[in-house]
Amino acid sequence: MNKHSEFSAMPFDTPLLSLVVPLFNERPMLPLFFERVLPVLAKLDLHWEIVLVDDGSDDGSAQYIRSVIDRTPGVRLIKLSRNFGKEAAMTAGLEHARGDAVIVLDADLQDPPEHIPAMVECWQSGVDVVLMQRRSRAGETAFKRWSAHLFYRLLNRTSHTDIPVDTGDFRLMSRKAIDALLVLKERNRYMKGLFAWIGMPTQIIQYDREPRVAGETKWDYPGLVGLALEGLTSFSVSPLRWATVIGLIAASVGAVFGLWIVVKALMLGDATAGYPSLVAIISFLGGIQLMSVGIVGEYVGKTYMESKQRPVYLTEEVIESPEGVRQHANRKMTETRHVKAV
Ligand code: UDP
Ligand code: MG
Repeated sequence: MNKHSEFSAMPFDTPLLSLVVPLFNERPMLPLFFERVLPVLAKLDLHWEIVLVDDGSDDGSAQYIRSVIDRTPGVRLIKLSRNFGKEAAMTAGLEHARGDAVIVLDADLQDPPEHIPAMVECWQSGVDVVLMQRRSRAGETAFKRWSAHLFYRLLNRTSHTDIPVDTGDFRLMSRKAIDALLVLKERNRYMKGLFAWIGMPTQIIQYDREPRVAGETKWDYPGLVGLALEGLTSFSVSPLRWATVIGLIAASVGAVFGLWIVVKALMLGDATAGYPSLVAIISFLGGIQLMSVGIVGEYVGKTYMESKQRPVYLTEEVIESPEGVRQHANRKMTETRHVKAV
């Protein structure tokens, strides 16, 4: 058996830590990932499991993970039927995680696994959520850093839920927090918002975000703009109010201006000449109208998607070693005994 197996001499009622790792075409990263994560886990005084969620990769990630599972019983693979996006993949991982605490981390090692012991320590001291806040974002362009900064601040201004600045999905959550999170059944899953919505005692740890070790980011700018819009419209209806306010201001300015033109023509005999000002005003107002319709459309679209009640993701298969299944069954038995003993 592998020396990093979770199947150690520890008693079965030792708490279980789950790592949830969403991944999409991360084959070049995977060997490095296990190389860095397994030694960290081996040093913990906890049982552990790694729940990898393959979000429709087509680069052989799943085959590689299968080979790891053969050697390492604590690793499990949830294979989704296609690419559902990171938010859905995370949801799948959280639903499948069995741990007393769950840590979400990216497969690309941008969230350094070496922080795991400190996170676990915080959790053991009694907090339900340990948030990892980025002190720096190495390997990202100045423009990405700036737009991320702007987005987090805009998001906090608009929503009533306080979404902590510069935190990503890298975090630890207790079983209590996970169970609360899983009650939120909405289809439009903006995880950062959902994470924040549940509240609970939280501790923030600062860290330096590392550059991606291999492979490349799955986010392009259109994707990020989409996620930003999703974030803004999932957690607040204030954009609808902005549309109303901007419309009101534009209409008032237009009315005053129109009145002024009429007064000028009648009293002073000075008819306003030229159409350029008209074109400018019409295109300005047209733009505002289209934008407002677009904002309303975002919400109508969301309502439509929610009303279909489709699942957030579909699982193709769950791959787990027989040893892993046996360990889980044993843990469950001890859990039942504990309940009876009380
Ligand atoms: N990811 C995923 N599904 C997707 C896109 C990304 O599961 O559709 C995973 C990806 O494999 C990685 C994590 O989400 O483990 C973060 O993605 P990425 O590194 O591309 O994002 P960034 O760090 O640039 O924000
Ligand atoms: Mg990344």
